[in-house]
Parts: sequence; C-alpha cells; structure tokens
Amino acid sequence: MSSTTPHVACARCGAVNRLPAERLADDPNCGRCHQPLLDGTPVELDDHSFDAFVRQTTLPVLVDFWAPWCGPCRQMAPQFEAAARQLKGRAVLVKVNSDAAPQTSARFGIRSIPTLVRLQGGLEQRRQSGALPAAQIVALAR
Ligand SMILES: [Zn+2]
Repeated sequence: MSSTTPHVACARCGAVNRLPAERLADDPNCGRCHQPLLDGTPVELDDHSFDAFVRQTTLPVLVDFWAPWCGPCRQMAPQFEAAARQLKGRAVLVKVNSDAAPQTSARFGIRSIPTLVRLQGGLEQRRQSGALPAAQIVALAR
C-alpha cells in the first residue's frame, strides 16, 4: 500500500481505513464497523477519541471548537454542516464540544469559541476564531 494512500479514521470504532483517492467521494464505509466514513456530515469527537482520529486521518481535518451555550456557535452550525457537504471526500469536518472535551480544548489553548483549527496529520496549520459563513469555512479547510 502506498504511503500516499489517504487514511481515514472511523469516529465510531476507531479503525483506520486506507482509501484509494478515487474512492474518497464514493461514500466509503468503515472496513470494521461498516458505518459511513465520509458521509458529508461533521464528526463529533471528545477527549477520548480526538487524538487518535486526527493523527491517523491524513485528509485535512477542520475542527470546530464550540459549546451548546454559545450563540455564535449555534448560528454557525448550519454553515459548518453546509461546508462539510461541500468538502465531502476532500476534508473531514469535526465538532468538539469544548465543555465535553476540556483536555483537548486546553491543549489547543482555546480561549474563545467558536474557533476553527485546521489540522493535517494531527499538526495545526492554521486557525480562525469567530463565526464564519460556509464559503470561508470551506476556504479554511482546503
Ligand atoms: Zn468503524
């Protein structure tokens, strides 16, 4: 298997799936639990699942640090979902509830929400705080 073959972690069972690039847009399922891997909806991660998922996924990962009590976060949620649909097969959009994932939020030094962090191979490449429209979310994830 080529090292350039994209890897996508399964948020449900943790299995790492190697996917040929031509299959990424083809609604691939997890090889272990057979649930959709890249169905164009945001993936929800917490302190237990975050590290393994972002380190093992080689596609760009855009994380939305948010909280249920945050008005701008709730306003941005449909924009984030629209961006996830547009980026299906090209990037993985992740939601982290900062109340439910305090360790992950602290490690990234999240001081205001919503904050979007773009990772690749677990490494932060850029971030942006404040609610964004879908087009800007897509641009940040690319
Ligand atoms: Zn799975």
